[in-house]
Amino acid sequence: MNIPTLRQSISYWLLASLLGALLSGWFALREQQQRFSQDSSIAHRLLSQKTVQHEAVLATLAQLETPPPAQPLLAGLQPAMPQLLAIGYWQHDSWHGSSAAPAGIAAAYRQAASQHLAQTLPAGNGRYWLVDGSGWSLLIDARLLLAGSDWPPALARISLELPSGELALLARQPQPLPWGWPLALDKRLPAASQPFAFHSRRVLTPAEWPWTQWLALSLLLALLLGSIRSRLQVRAQRHLAQQQLRLANLNRLGTLGEMAAGIAHELNQPLTAILANVRAAERLLDDDDERDSVRQALQTSAAQARRAADIVGRLRAMVTQPGSGGSRALDPQPLLESLLVLRHDELAARRIALSWDNASPEARLQAEPVALEQILHNLVQNAVEALGSRGGHIRLRGEALGSRYWLTVSDDGPGIPPEQLPQLFQPFFTTREGGMGLGLSLSETLAHGMHGQLTAANLPAGGACFTLSLPLAEESR
Ligand code: ADP
Repeated sequence: MNIPTLRQSISYWLLASLLGALLSGWFALREQQQRFSQDSSIAHRLLSQKTVQHEAVLATLAQLETPPPAQPLLAGLQPAMPQLLAIGYWQHDSWHGSSAAPAGIAAAYRQAASQHLAQTLPAGNGRYWLVDGSGWSLLIDARLLLAGSDWPPALARISLELPSGELALLARQPQPLPWGWPLALDKRLPAASQPFAFHSRRVLTPAEWPWTQWLALSLLLALLLGSIRSRLQVRAQRHLAQQQLRLANLNRLGTLGEMAAGIAHELNQPLTAILANVRAAERLLDDDDERDSVRQALQTSAAQARRAADIVGRLRAMVTQPGSGGSRALDPQPLLESLLVLRHDELAARRIALSWDNASPEARLQAEPVALEQILHNLVQNAVEALGSRGGHIRLRGEALGSRYWLTVSDDGPGIPPEQLPQLFQPFFTTREGGMGLGLSLSETLAHGMHGQLTAANLPAGGACFTLSLPLAEESR
């Protein structure tokens, strides 16, 4: 798994925080909505009870045979009904009440009697008369229907539409309502004589949004993502360290291999010569007195020389039969990617860019991974050395053409003097101070071991270009 960059991590965190905030905001909103509609319903029910209570009082008074005097009646009712301001009785076109007769009482009385339904008469200031067909009338102050402490807590603005106009009963939020998420409930009061429209309004202002929850959530997500990222980093570093260790081992093995190849090359001929000379001496010494002891010594030398030749032969066999894994169908992509990752930091420090262009991503080549890795490593290392301290660009490119896969390693360094091109792959040819001149010869040997070829050329624009061609795997042909 790739480690996200800091910018990616921040975008993931922002996205997750946003989603979390939306989700928790949605739950918080639902909860507030529920509380609001519950409390609005409670207020609606309480107001409904009051208006139904007015009808019940009127119905009870209508039952009385002799109407009692209004003043003591009012005093008896007021403790239970603080909203009741006055009471009166209209009979035979005359008014008997605790206050003056309201204007329009006669007409309201006639209408109530004919419709068998109490009528409302506006009295200003949130008050209204409720006139019954029995002649009894109640003056009610709608603002006193509910005491301040009776309003449920989740409500903000309540109003009633009275015959005289809209009356605000509760104003915990200013009008016009502030900016935020609006909540509303509209319902009529059920009393047939006082079917006033009931409006409940509230706005969830930003101050009421679940900021602490959101803050805690985003902190938690930051911690979570941070710890995932650092775990991934630790894992990647461990992986890189393992890879570097592997590369170091590979290099050591490679150097050993190079040395062995050199020793084999250099020693094989002299040893064969020793063998031939010693045999000749053995023949010439036939007549001497010390013949037997010389023969024995020479025989021992010959045996030793043969043994040395065998050891050298074995060493060469070890080097020329590349790797341990054997050749197989191989996707070059992961191998090249890991080479890029492995060398990135070191090359970046030397201001060298290393790029890989896979022109045939589907192609699979027939190769031995360790050997291929070693060749590429040698070629990249040579390019790095050619670029030296001035920096530059090393381009790796792979393309399937015909039945072969062509891997090129090119650089924009000084290139190779044309007269040196023919000697480049010879063992011990080097122009580098401290160079062994075995990297290219070993790489060529490894390439041959995989039925491949390694060639060198100069680019027209300057710089060297090494081309490794390998057979394509059966499946890619
Ligand atoms: P070494 O690196 O030990 O010199 P090599 O066999 O790897 O041995 O390289 C042989 C020589 O080939 C180098 O000394 C150098 O002169 C030349 N050479 C190899 N690669 C490049 C390159 N990319 N640009 C220029 N010269 C190169």
